[in-house]
Amino acid sequence: MQGIPQPGRTEVLQLPRVHISRHPVMAHKMTLLRNKETPAAQFYRLVKEIGSLLAYEATAGLALREKTIETPLEQMQGYKLAGGIGITPILRAGLGLAEGFREVLHDVQIWHLGLRRDERTLQALEYYNQLPHKVDLQICYAVDPMLATGGSAIDAVNILKAKGIQRISFVCIIAAPYGLLKLSEAHPDIDIYIAALDERLNDQGYIVPGLGDAGDRQFGTF
Ligand code: URA
Repeated sequence: MQGIPQPGRTEVLQLPRVHISRHPVMAHKMTLLRNKETPAAQFYRLVKEIGSLLAYEATAGLALREKTIETPLEQMQGYKLAGGIGITPILRAGLGLAEGFREVLHDVQIWHLGLRRDERTLQALEYYNQLPHKVDLQICYAVDPMLATGGSAIDAVNILKAKGIQRISFVCIIAAPYGLLKLSEAHPDIDIYIAALDERLNDQGYIVPGLGDAGDRQFGTF
């Protein structure tokens, strides 16, 4: 990122479809997650828990259908989610977040997508794609813990749109203003849910202050 101008936090705070968590439990868990002393097993557990909190926030606007049920006392009108829900973890770092989503939403389709960063050009490369032939979702959540340059996020949403998904949200733990702006500009029609907005990207493309490499820290591959 050397020599590339980056927007500041204040420039992206007003983006219309960006939702930043304000939950105190999230702030508490984020501090544990960022701490370099946190071991991999606890880090992975925290990613899942943060994934569940983000899922709760990101699903607040889902459509419902009425459903009549019998309680032990009488009949009543209840609800069920209208239409299927897809989760696309961007491999490999998105796996923990997807698990957190599944704690909240059990009946989901998981569409794995392998995108990795070319360390030299910082561009996203697709190396694995396990998306189904039949698409019957009301929404698909693309999940990746770190929104850094925005390259993989933009590519992932392009791939989901090409599959015919009408409604897409992107969910991440930490965003850099640069990646957030790029993703919002490339896909102004999606909602973006994040747990924290950080300061900037360093010369190697890492988010600062960030948490380091989200994949290595989840899977203990240092
Ligand atoms: N990916 C990571 O794992 N960490 C960063 O800071 C940026 C991208």
